[in-house]
Order: sequence, then structure tokens, then C-alpha cells
Amino acid sequence: MCPFRSASSGPHFGFEGSDALQQSILATVPDAMIVIDASGTILSFSAAAEAMFGYAGADAVGQNVRILMPQPDRDRHDQYIQRYLETHEPHIIGIGRVTTALRHDGNSFPIELSIGDAQTPEGRVFTGFVRDLTERQQTERRLAVLQGELSHISRISAMGSLATALAHELNQPLTAIASYLEGAESLLDSDDPTARAMVREAISEAMAQSVRAGQIVRRLRDFIARGTSEKRIESLRQIVSEACALALTGTGQSRVDVDIQLAGGSDLVLVDRIQIQQVLLNLVRNAIEAMARQPRQRIEIRSAPTPAGMIELSVADNGPGIGAALLPHLFEPFHSSKETGMGLGLSISRTIIEAHEGRLWAQPSPLGGAAFHFTLMRAEAELRDG
Ligand code: ADP
Repeated sequence: MCPFRSASSGPHFGFEGSDALQQSILATVPDAMIVIDASGTILSFSAAAEAMFGYAGADAVGQNVRILMPQPDRDRHDQYIQRYLETHEPHIIGIGRVTTALRHDGNSFPIELSIGDAQTPEGRVFTGFVRDLTERQQTERRLAVLQGELSHISRISAMGSLATALAHELNQPLTAIASYLEGAESLLDSDDPTARAMVREAISEAMAQSVRAGQIVRRLRDFIARGTSEKRIESLRQIVSEACALALTGTGQSRVDVDIQLAGGSDLVLVDRIQIQQVLLNLVRNAIEAMARQPRQRIEIRSAPTPAGMIELSVADNGPGIGAALLPHLFEPFHSSKETGMGLGLSISRTIIEAHEGRLWAQPSPLGGAAFHFTLMRAEAELRDG
């Protein structure tokens, strides 16, 4: 039975008052609702459809539904219906899809379209429910930009405050080293027999100060790694997918093909989620930056259980790989090949992973670029041992 009347053929609900019922549905259904027959002719057009498409119902009814579609669907729609009637193979019916529609004023807009079909005494009819996605897409786009800005700002400000702290703390030993060495230099040409001892003392003071500078860097790294460490049992799958989404937002890199395949059956890890996401964010962003000139950009993220009962995660890219000169210093702070790089990401990442009792290392990637691997504690193992 056709639940909606054809505008020209009058009501054909099978019970009294059905026309009023139909009218009230058409007036109140929140999504735009459009009923067409098998030739594509519009039989009914709800109030929401009028508002969405800018047609008065009376003008739309009787026209071919093509008028609501931009090309190429506009020219192909008759074939779509024909194909469905012949093959009964659904491409959209009962499935739904996001597509584009056309307003009366000629502007196209994104929609989510669901279609159902029914056999009625008058023939086959199709009922379409249309939801305007313009607002949702704008909101999503805005959210993505905001999220990107947020992670960028937090990265910049974390780096900024770290840099300020480092500059401040390192200034003292560095000034001391400079003045000890300056004093030593001026004593070198002296004939005074005590000068040699003084030079030795100045050099040993300078050495002590440089050890202190090293300790400051290490302490700051440890602080970043342990600062607010709070380990919980977390799903690795969730950690990875969120970190990837975050790494890709706001980079403008929609060309990157990110392939995530995690080993089944070993999903739970004992970690500080934020810190591990920070590590993944660094690795994925580094990979994206390294592949900037690659025509095809691919990142593969894999996980596998290790014989030692841990879980190993790898982030591999098809970039140029790690330069030979950088390799020995890769995980040391302030080694960067980037103009604006701080060279802290990998050093902080290693500290975080080590604070989680894991290891982080680099090796050539099977894709031709670099691959970073790290191990994490499996929560199942932790539960069993504990
Ligand atoms: P930054 O990104 O600020 O330079 P990092 O410590 O994260 O600091 O990285 C240090 C350096 O390691 C980078 O400047 C880059 O030269 C190199 N590097 C990191 N990841 C990759 C990668 N996936 N491919 C090639 N080189 C990389």
C-alpha cells in the first residue's frame, strides 16, 4: 500500500482520514521527505523539503526529481531507476549515502539521502529522506581546524616553555664555562709556575659545569616524561586511532595514506595515554614532514606481540629515511634537520617510552623510508604477573 498519495490521483490510503494523516506527516516530518514514482515524477514533497530545496510543494509535485540533483546525477537518474527496476540490485536504496543536491536557486549542497521503495496498487514508489549536511559539515570542518590549532598551540607552547626553561637554566653553566675557559686561555702564555695548576683547575671547573648542563637537559626530559604520568589499562587501538586523527588534522595533508593494522588479541596496554599519544603524534608528524616531497605518501602502523611478553608498535614511512650524519644523534636533544625544528621530539619520546619500561629505536622501513619501533607493557601480562 502506498502511504502517500499522488498529487494528481487523490488520496489512496486504505482507511478514512488517511489524507489528513498524510498531510500532517508531510507537514511535520523533520527531514525533507520526497516520494516519487518509477518514472521519477515527484508525487509528494514535505514542508521540510520545501524549505530545504526552495520549491513550493505545488511546483515540485509533478516534476521529475532530477530537478533536485546537480550533474552528473541529473542526466543519469532515469538510468539509476531503470537499473534498479531491472536488477533489483540496490546501490542506494536501503543503504543510504552522502551525496549532493541542488537548490532551486542553483546552489548545490551536501546531503545524506536514504531511500526506501514500496510496491503499491498504483505501481512502485520510492520515498527519499534528505538531511542537509551543510551545517554539520561546517561544524565538523570548524572542529577539525580548532583541534588542529589546539594541538599546534599546545605543541608550540610546550616547546616554548621548555625552551625558555632550558635557556634560563643552561645560561648559568654556559656562562661559567665561558669565563673559566677565558681565564684559562689568558693564563696559557704566563710564565708564572702556578699558572699551569690554575689552568688545570679552570678546565676541570669548566668540565664540571658542562656535566651540570647535561644534567639539566636530562632532568627536564625526565620531568616531561614523568611530570603527570598516570598509567592505566588502555586500548592500544583507540590510542593509535585518536593519535593518528590528531596528527592528520590541521596538517593540510590529506594525501597521506595511513594504514593501521594492529595484531588481534593483544590490545590492552598499561600506559599513560596522553604521553603515548604524544609519542605517536611526534612519530606520525615526523613521518608526514619527512615525506613532504614524496608523490605517494604512505604510513604503515603495525603492532605485534614480542617474545618477552611486550607489545611492539611500529610507524613506518616511505620518506627519504634518516640521514647518515644524523643517525648517531637521532635521539639526542637539539639535533634537527628542520629549519624550525627544536630537535626535541625524539628525545622526549624516548624518555617517555623508557619511563614506560619500553624501548624506542629506528631502523630502515620496508617502505623505503624510516621506521620507528617501540615496545609497551601488555596489560594482560601485567595483570597475570601482578
Ligand atoms: P624535530 O622534528 O623538531 O626536528 P625530532 O627529535 O622529532 O625533532 O626529530 C629529529 C630529526 O630526526 C628530524 O629533524 C629529522 O631530521 C629526523 N627524523 C625524524 N623522523 C624522521 C623520519 N620519519 N624520516 C626521516 N627523518 C626523520
